[in-house]
Amino acid sequence: MSSTQDIILLGPPGAGKGTQASRLASRLGVPHISTGDLFRQNLREQTPVGLMAKGFMDRGLLVPDEVVCDMVRDRLELEDASSGSLLDGFPRTIPQAQALEGMLRRLGRRVDRVLFFDAQDATLVERIAGRLTCSACSAAFHTTFAPPKVAGVCDKCGKAGLAVRSDDAEAAVRARLAEYRSKTQPLLAHYTEAGCLRVINAEQAIATVESALATALAAN
Ligand code: AMP
Repeated sequence: MSSTQDIILLGPPGAGKGTQASRLASRLGVPHISTGDLFRQNLREQTPVGLMAKGFMDRGLLVPDEVVCDMVRDRLELEDASSGSLLDGFPRTIPQAQALEGMLRRLGRRVDRVLFFDAQDATLVERIAGRLTCSACSAAFHTTFAPPKVAGVCDKCGKAGLAVRSDDAEAAVRARLAEYRSKTQPLLAHYTEAGCLRVINAEQAIATVESALATALAAN
């Protein structure tokens, strides 16, 4: 295996990818690249990409492939991603997966592992319903499963900006699950065929999922 590692976290909204991602990324020594976080950051900074993405995000729809792929291509070229990446929420469509393969090929790399977060719809809805997101740094919390130390205040950046994401409202969640089923689920067959998919039982407690991820990464 190459010394760089490019790993994808794949799964429906609310499966817990974001919760696991930052700790896993620091353990692996690679940046956590969340396309959702990048869009939210662009939106806070009122960039053209952020403003165009907002219309799709608020309705629970995927942002067009070209926009997402350009953003990821730029991000993968930054110095901190020279030793690999932990991709969270990308790719989400077959064309995005193909574009990623091209980006990595040009860097002499490939997708090493795809960790699929498997969870039932009822679990996803329960997790999304209690989710609080920091409007300053995008860190995610949950009212029951991962509450902040001080109510309303982000443990990570210390700002008092915890709020319900606009796309966590019920209608947008339904649209996001439908987008996931029609556009993202086909990636399971794609990566199974490529031999790099590992299924993680994401119904389990946070610490148990964390060990399952470590085991899946250690095994050949
Ligand atoms: P997330 O934080 O991963 O749940 O993403 C929030 C929203 O950002 C999604 O519902 C999409 O509107 C948009 N988004 C994030 N990643 C992608 C992607 N890979 N492709 C298209 N849209 C995306």
